[in-house]
Amino acid sequence: GRAQVVVVGGGFGGATAARALARSGHAVTLVERDAAFLACPFSNAVLVGLRRLDQQRFGYDGLTAAGVKVVIDTATGVDAAARQVTLAAGATLGFDRLILAPGIDLNHGGIQGYGEAAAEVMPHAWRAGAQTTLLARQLDAMADGGTVVMSVPANPYRCPPGPYERASLIAWYLKARKPRSKLIVLDAKDTFSKQRLFQRAWNELYPGLIEWVGQSAGGTVTAVDAETRTLSTDFGRHKADVANVIPPQRAGRIAELAGVADRSGWCPVDPVSFESRRQPGIHIVGDAGIMGAMPKSAFSANAQAKACALAIAALLKGAEPPPVRLINTCYSLVAPDYGISVAGVYRPANGLLADIEGAGGTSPLDAPRDQRLAEAHYGEAWFQTITSDVYG
Ligand code: FAD
Repeated sequence: GRAQVVVVGGGFGGATAARALARSGHAVTLVERDAAFLACPFSNAVLVGLRRLDQQRFGYDGLTAAGVKVVIDTATGVDAAARQVTLAAGATLGFDRLILAPGIDLNHGGIQGYGEAAAEVMPHAWRAGAQTTLLARQLDAMADGGTVVMSVPANPYRCPPGPYERASLIAWYLKARKPRSKLIVLDAKDTFSKQRLFQRAWNELYPGLIEWVGQSAGGTVTAVDAETRTLSTDFGRHKADVANVIPPQRAGRIAELAGVADRSGWCPVDPVSFESRRQPGIHIVGDAGIMGAMPKSAFSANAQAKACALAIAALLKGAEPPPVRLINTCYSLVAPDYGISVAGVYRPANGLLADIEGAGGTSPLDAPRDQRLAEAHYGEAWFQTITSDVYG
């Protein structure tokens, strides 16, 4: 019969790959835990009341209509040698090629005292859904004059500029609604994505409101106490009225069960075919993979998935995967009418995806406000485009 491709994970990476393979006439089964997907991009706008959570929700009917067999279930095991995936409901799915796109799991061990119970008090909101709603409610309930504390992990993690977009929009919200409040950002690193653009905008829009503490100034959070909403660093303690703890991360658990994650918790892949370096026949796209210079973003996951689908189509015919050039662009909102972006172009080099120097860049540091407004609109247009490309 036809070659069978199974995809685990119906987020930006997995859903894109499944659709691309179905379009080229392959038999594709997509396994996804949740009946609807909740997108993280723009979830920071949900936190401060600029969007509703239901604007982040996408169902799988479009993929079914595109010829993908969608199975709503959790993959609980992968037998790489027998080429079989086991589902929580008990069924097994055989495959010729498997794509794993499980996104991230939170590495709770990374911060002492943090875990699922603590996340109910100090939400991470790093996967969209109930956590987003919880943090939004806490911000809304906080009194004017309160202290919001964010904890940001070291690299690598999902969406490098995401914490700083979040800090910006929280500052926007506090300035408008609770102007005596402040925001402390405790960071486990000393530099971050689009840093000069963010910091310049913070000085301009929210002077004195955001205190960013880098790693060498004592920003690394090592422990939390949910009962007292306290975050500890090697330099001291911070008591929060609202605490947003974004812990370190690793590939979704199924990657470890399939034997494709390494000791870093992430999955090494060949940068042309996205095939695992640890288990032949299994490919990884999106946040779960070690993708060199390419950041963990929805844009990247979508681009990698399309390249991976082409590679699998070639491999199933006994051909070589085509060469790849991949693009990423990440838009961030600093305020509802103030957008900034970073773009990069990547090619395989030394076994990883490397930045093509001079091909990317960021928004200009001194752009006029109408350009910031235009970029805020481009960001929204990007979200419309990618979600209809993947789920439409
Ligand atoms: P996901 O999209 O997380 O999809 C993984 C899917 O796999 C999930 O649906 C999950 O339910 C499913 N799954 C996992 N394990 C199993 C299993 N065992 N069985 C069945 N299903 C399983 N990116 C951008 O490009 N632009 C942005 O502006 C942007 N903003 C962001 C803002 C925030 C606050 C955050 C947190 C992220 C943002 N991102 C942004 C990053 C983006 O959300 C991720 O990079 C992207 O979702 C990665 O896609 P993925 O397919 O790897 O994982």
